[in-house]
Amino acid sequence: MSDSNIILKIIAIIVFVVLTFFGVVYILASPVDPTQTVLRLIIGVLLIIIAITLLVIILRLIQRTKYKIVKVKEPKDLEEETRYVPSEMICKNCGTPLEISEEMKKKEIVYCEKCGEAIKLPKDKVKW
Ligand SMILES: [Zn+2]
Repeated sequence: MSDSNIILKIIAIIVFVVLTFFGVVYILASPVDPTQTVLRLIIGVLLIIIAITLLVIILRLIQRTKYKIVKVKEPKDLEEETRYVPSEMICKNCGTPLEISEEMKKKEIVYCEKCGEAIKLPKDKVKW
């Protein structure tokens, strides 16, 4: 989790605690003044509902940003660095021209079809 997400989470929890606290205070204070009992009960319950809603929304936002970060990072990390391999090579042992297929290019070493000589494929990233 990134620092901004931790700060956001702390703010969400503080807001939640403060709103819930005021909500409880309103509900507890409602019997004191009989003319405002119903109003204070409504405000108290509303404050608690708002507090829970805000907490859920912010925690969901954090979850969403987390997903985004993962999605951006994954494809680049998984993709291997592409190396340039020529599609044709000549065997150093017998001089037979060898066709290097896409499947063979992934390997480090290929073998000559005629004499079986092991040929190490170049690892250069630069085309020539
Ligand atoms: Zn050969």
